Amino acid sequence: MSQARFACLQCPKTYDWLDLRYACDCGGLLEVKHDDPALRKLPELAEQRLTSRKPFDRSGVWRFREAVLPLPESMIVTQPEGQTPIYQSAALNQWAGHSRLSLKHEGENPSGSFKDRGMTAAVSMAKRLGMPVVACASTGNTSSSLAAYAARAGLKAIVFLPAGKVSQGKMAQTLGYGAKGLAIRGDFDDAMQIVRDLAAAGRVYMVNSLNPHRIEGQKTIIWEMLQDRNWEAPDWIVVPGGNLGNTSAFGKAIDEAYAWGWIQKKPRLATIQAEGANPFFRSYSRDFASLEPITAETVATAIRIGHPVNYPRAVKAILSTNGVVTDVTDAEIMAAKLAIDHAGIGCEPASAATLAGVRKLVKKAVISADEDVVLVLTGHMLKDPDAILKNGTLDCTEIDAKAEAISRALDSL
Ligand SMILES: *Cc1c(COP(=O)(O)O)cnc(C)c1O
Ligand SMILES: [Zn+2]
Repeated sequence: MSQARFACLQCPKTYDWLDLRYACDCGGLLEVKHDDPALRKLPELAEQRLTSRKPFDRSGVWRFREAVLPLPESMIVTQPEGQTPIYQSAALNQWAGHSRLSLKHEGENPSGSFKDRGMTAAVSMAKRLGMPVVACASTGNTSSSLAAYAARAGLKAIVFLPAGKVSQGKMAQTLGYGAKGLAIRGDFDDAMQIVRDLAAAGRVYMVNSLNPHRIEGQKTIIWEMLQDRNWEAPDWIVVPGGNLGNTSAFGKAIDEAYAWGWIQKKPRLATIQAEGANPFFRSYSRDFASLEPITAETVATAIRIGHPVNYPRAVKAILSTNGVVTDVTDAEIMAAKLAIDHAGIGCEPASAATLAGVRKLVKKAVISADEDVVLVLTGHMLKDPDAILKNGTLDCTEIDAKAEAISRALDSL
């Protein structure tokens, strides 16, 4: 069962996957390697588990457990996450100038974002390692997810947030689940550095996506989508990029599914950044020569990140899937969000960067209009109510509760 091990991304060194460490001695990022010939047959097992009544089997993460974290059931903290739907919409096809879009809605996870998939893995590891205090830096969704899973596991959660830059929905959720918040006078990147230092000093268990187990959990977004398509790979998978944990996880999920014979071709990854938070796009434009951190600003607060810590993993993901990176303006993000909301699907601003990105890539003929494209919507519409209420196109008129006034109002709608 424990053929898993940590491997360094930069040197040949490997470590036991139960070691309490976030990086190699050389400073390189770690990834979990799974070497078990039985993994080739995992899709059949995952299919059988769908008929089980146990949350552990039906979870979109733990139905793939042998290729995520081979922990015993007693250690697993699950809500259960995943099992998210795939939508299609003629209106959104038309909006993007495309004909074959599907949208996998990770905002329909228990805490309203895909972060639950990585968090179930990371918090289960915290429990396995006996770490009583778990911490993260967050723009609001990681902290909401951590707060929920830590509460379920009986662990203490401490979250570091950029003061004044977290949406109402996420703030309420994080504190509501009982996490202790520290609002840093600085941005996400400052908060991230603080948590890294605390983790290095052994004060807390860090569950940001630097933690390789988060990445393992998030791979299952791709695997669950492929399972729901009978292991027919799409041509493209489109994802927003902030700290680049998802981009990294998606690349690894695709590489593994291909290596183990689950899929016959590799989909291409397209990572979309906000123009004001685009260090990955800038680096891509210079053939990944280097990462130049920037000070980030965008309405899409979930991707307001100027120094993505997963950069080396994400570069590997783009190169190995023949992927692309682009950026879109805040206006394009909000126009795409309006289209997604009006299609009855709904999402938070960062998620809408995917649709804006597809429209741009179709215009530039990078994606052709008849290719099979899956967009990943990362967060729920209610995560950021202000982004909806501020946009000025809402239609709600206050009137007297009188028959005549109501009749006149109805005529004018
Ligand atoms: C965290 C988050 C992102 C960014 O994901 P990364 O893995 O950091 O690139 C995008 N959208 C939403 C809604 C998020 O919560
Ligand atoms: Zn190393």
